[in-house]
Amino acid sequence: MPSSSRVLPLLGMLVAASAIAIAQQPAPAQPPAPAPDPHANEVPAPKNPPRVVTPGDAVGAPPSDAIVLFDGKDLSNWVSEKDATSPAPWTVADGVVTVKAGSGGIRTTRAFGDIQLHIEWATPSEVKGNGQERGNSGVFFAASTGAGGSGYEVQVLDSYNNPTYWHGSAGSIYKQHAPLVNASRKPGEWQVYDVVFHAPKFDSDGKVIKRATFTVFHNGVLIQDHVEVMGMTTHSGPPYYKAHPEKMPLALQDHGNPIRYRNIWIRPL
Ligand code: MG
Repeated sequence: MPSSSRVLPLLGMLVAASAIAIAQQPAPAQPPAPAPDPHANEVPAPKNPPRVVTPGDAVGAPPSDAIVLFDGKDLSNWVSEKDATSPAPWTVADGVVTVKAGSGGIRTTRAFGDIQLHIEWATPSEVKGNGQERGNSGVFFAASTGAGGSGYEVQVLDSYNNPTYWHGSAGSIYKQHAPLVNASRKPGEWQVYDVVFHAPKFDSDGKVIKRATFTVFHNGVLIQDHVEVMGMTTHSGPPYYKAHPEKMPLALQDHGNPIRYRNIWIRPL
């Protein structure tokens, strides 16, 4: 019997020699025969082409199918959150709407379900206060139709070197999901949220059967990656769901700070 110490090198040489022989074989004269149906079992293409949407002229400008909620001129698409029969009480000047402290929030006249939202905002350049008292406002999705600020808040806050509880900083889903990163610009600089919101669904008994979700980009940076909302973003106590129509207004919060907003548009999804 040959010992394994002799057989193994011999085997190695044979393998190497056959590899060289295969590599030296000429390429076949003909391409290989095609498979019987190379497209078998593929996902079929949709019957209809995607709807054409003309993008805005500049980055952030509303595309052709957007509903513009604020174009810098007036608040005709908004009402007072305290009293929906009253016009929105905030100040419009120079293409910008500014929170009028103490007047209450404003909400849209129309209701929306699943939406893509673009909104630009700026906190005061003169820094006053700390934590939650510094440049606080908020965008409320599925906001209630009365005062009280229920709904699901994407927090607006001056979070530039401003520690607070992190699930209450800029871009948080208030007290539920901290932003993945802090993409805040300096106080006074314009910032952008691009948000995809899917409204929750309730059964006929008012029980939530599909939770709301948020995806949020802050100044182009992903900060909420399709997170599930646990319920209304309450300030105190645990979040919980309370049944509401699928389509609800969008609201902006008066938290007592003169936050500026501009270029607000949505696309129903
Ligand atoms: Mg807020």
